[in-house]
Amino acid sequence: MLWSALVSLGVGFLYYAFALVGVHLLSLPSGIVVFWPPNAVLLAAFLTLPKRLWPGLGVIVVLAELLADYTAFPVHAALLFGLVNVAECAIAALVIRRFSVSERVRPDWGEPRELALFIIIAFFVASPVVAMAGASIYTFVLDESTPFLVLWRIWWFGDATGLIALTPALHMLMNAKTYLPDSRYRAAGNLEWAGLAVITLLTCFVVFSVDIRAREILTLAPLLVMLAPFWAAVRLGPLPGSLLTATVVVYSAIASAQGHIPFLQGSPESAAMLLQEIIVLFTVIVLFAAAFVTQNRRKSGSVLLYRSAVEATSEGVLITRAEQDQPIIYCNKSFLKMTGYKEDEILGKNCRFLNRNEPDQPELRQVKEAILRNKPVRVMVRNFKKDGTMFWNSLAINPIPDWRGRPSYFVGILSDVSREVEQRNQLKTLLDKLQVAKETLEDKVNLRTRELSEANRTLERLALTDELTGVYNRRNLISRGHLEVLRCSRSGGAFSVMLLDIDHFKRFNDRYGHEAGDLILKAFARAVQSTIRKVDSFGRWGGEEFMVLVYDSEQVNLYAMGDKIRKSVAECRVSYSGNELHVTVSIGIATWQGGSFDQTVSMADSAMYEAKNAGRNRLVIYDDRNNAVSE
Ligand code: GH3
Ligand code: MG
Ligand code: MG
Repeated sequence: MLWSALVSLGVGFLYYAFALVGVHLLSLPSGIVVFWPPNAVLLAAFLTLPKRLWPGLGVIVVLAELLADYTAFPVHAALLFGLVNVAECAIAALVIRRFSVSERVRPDWGEPRELALFIIIAFFVASPVVAMAGASIYTFVLDESTPFLVLWRIWWFGDATGLIALTPALHMLMNAKTYLPDSRYRAAGNLEWAGLAVITLLTCFVVFSVDIRAREILTLAPLLVMLAPFWAAVRLGPLPGSLLTATVVVYSAIASAQGHIPFLQGSPESAAMLLQEIIVLFTVIVLFAAAFVTQNRRKSGSVLLYRSAVEATSEGVLITRAEQDQPIIYCNKSFLKMTGYKEDEILGKNCRFLNRNEPDQPELRQVKEAILRNKPVRVMVRNFKKDGTMFWNSLAINPIPDWRGRPSYFVGILSDVSREVEQRNQLKTLLDKLQVAKETLEDKVNLRTRELSEANRTLERLALTDELTGVYNRRNLISRGHLEVLRCSRSGGAFSVMLLDIDHFKRFNDRYGHEAGDLILKAFARAVQSTIRKVDSFGRWGGEEFMVLVYDSEQVNLYAMGDKIRKSVAECRVSYSGNELHVTVSIGIATWQGGSFDQTVSMADSAMYEAKNAGRNRLVIYDDRNNAVSE
């Protein structure tokens, strides 16, 4: 708040001082002011300060105008002059700030476009419009006899010249940070600047304070004053340029007001007009020179930055012109390093030398098509270095249009991805091998599993059956017998054990041989198996002894069943070495009576021995009441 007030008061004071300069130093004897400087202070302030400060600033400026004018004009006229000046600067500042595109300060005196905007608004919009109001005050309030249009023109050019001559310098001083040269160059710049200031004052003195009309040789001397400001603008930038220009302008105007007008020998009014035009042209030329040089310097700065960035990248970068055979116009160092070529070996050539022996890759057709259609493209191609080595190039090509949007260049970004491709291929080979190994392993595992389960089944069969005859073995019979004892103890049923012993088998073996014995054992097993019920269990108890477990035997006629077995054995014949061999069997039968399985077996055993003793080829059922045996 305090700061704002101080700034506003400062601007007001400067305005007042510049108004005094205008009234006392820049007025021709006829009363015409060569140019009106205070408006430049106000416009520079409006362009710099936030809009919320404008109303206060306006009030202070009107008061300053009143203070400067009250000796020469009535108070109400001075008040109106003040208001008109504030309006002029406000209009100019509003329009310039609205149409300026600068991101730094508005306007940016380092941009020709911004400068042109300022000149058009200051000279051709704000000044002529407001000059009508000024001329009206003279005509209608002060009853001036001069024609209205003449008054309008005098006001317009006086104001416009003041704005153009001083606003840029004042605005740049208020935003000095943007325009001061880098501290690195400042020391040398300061010296140069001081020298140029001296030259400016010297040339001004020669041109405006010495009566050169008397000396024919110096007719062209007025142009001398351009030297130093122009130099400053081009070498040191807009701020020094505009400050020296303002110096020349103020000097020339003061000198003119004092009667030193070197340009024309006619009336003071037309001399003043000519001076105004020269001031405006001179200022505009110097400012434009500064703006163009500054813009160019900024651009080449950023171009340099981009170029350095492109040079620094590890990717290869190529730029080709989009005409005829697309000649290469630029390549960066990484490209040269990647391919082994030298710059002068490839500039002006088409890129196809990179494809060497393999110009028919499908990806290259894709690239050609994209270039024809002006589309970006990204492919992976096999390219060749200068020494013939192949490398995998991951290539991205983008078209770059010119400012009219027409295709004018292509930029290619190249990366050597050979190592990645190599690694990927190795990985793929490895994976393939791994896959094959996995499949082989799976096959082997399957085979082994099949073999194992086969072996398991065999083992199971061997564990539970007799190898020679294929019927149940002793272990199987025992476990079934035990289970049956448990089952019958719970359910109250009964089972019986039949023990079958081949008669005189030792003798049979002795007579026909062991082989024949085995054959008979197999035939015996088959004969018994086909005779008994499917539900019953039949197995080899040991040697030439067999056993039948008859389940639910209370429902079975054990005698009939046993006899059927005996008969089928007796009828069974085996051909061996031209003989029809046969055997008989003795059978002992016992029914479970609540004891253990072993007890039942030994009961059947004693019945079987009874059968042997009774003459063989018969059956005996164990009877527990008298331990006798019934046949
Ligand atoms: P018995 O009428 O009293 O039963 O007379 P046996 O000769 O049959 O009685 P023993 O128990 O003395 O003889 C059994 C014979 O069975 C002895 C053995 O040579 C024969 N034998 C046992 N197992 C086999 C076998 O697997 N193959 C052959 N070929 N003979 C066997
Ligand atoms: Mg025996
Ligand atoms: Mg026997």
